[in-house]
Amino acid sequence: MIRSITQQKPMEEIERLLEGMGRVFIMGCGTCVTLTHTGGIPEVEAMRGALSEKGKVVTGTTVVPVACDNLTREILKDIQSGIKQSDALLIMTCAFGVQTIAHQIGKLVIPALNTMFIGKETAFGEFNEVCTQCGTCIIGETGGICPVTACHKGLVNGPCGGTNNGKCEIDSNKDCAWTAIYNRLKALGRIDSMRKYQKPRNHLGEPNPGKFRIPTV
Ligand code: SF4
Ligand code: SF4
Repeated sequence: MIRSITQQKPMEEIERLLEGMGRVFIMGCGTCVTLTHTGGIPEVEAMRGALSEKGKVVTGTTVVPVACDNLTREILKDIQSGIKQSDALLIMTCAFGVQTIAHQIGKLVIPALNTMFIGKETAFGEFNEVCTQCGTCIIGETGGICPVTACHKGLVNGPCGGTNNGKCEIDSNKDCAWTAIYNRLKALGRIDSMRKYQKPRNHLGEPNPGKFRIPTV
């Protein structure tokens, strides 16, 4: 399962972002952030307690089912009064949810979380980043393992030379991506793929924000 992986910002940063705002409405989300324990009911309640202790008036809390869904607009209509009474909304969702809510409501929105990456659940409660969406996918030549994401240096033309017994020189607890690629390609009888030179990457990429339109037939 793919999830948006988030981490709560330090409390000092949240307090700084809320400076001068005495009345706050807190919003969480029932999907990714509930699963990662960063913006579900318990975390929203803990935030309510923490802000109350700091002297803020919490005008209300809610955990919407899917913050990044446009249907959130309808749910927000039902909780208008608490939102109206607030100076700002503290949003405990990923940045996509924060932006969706910001579009739907004429209020200042403050993110309480940092959005780290899109992660795949690899074990119960454990998420690994599998793709940084670089826009130039080369995993057809690396046995389906992404070196851009899985190698600490993002190397695309083989290992760095620091590989030690299959572990990464930067983090000895982590498997070296290029050793894994070598092993995978060897098992597939495609070791020649490693000789394919990957051209230097244009890290400037396309101008932001990225856009994609389904081609018309
Ligand atoms: S090379 Fe890696 S980061 Fe780039 S698109 Fe493919 S899987 Fe994603
Ligand atoms: S040891 Fe392997 S994973 Fe680590 S930086 Fe070097 S090539 Fe990348």
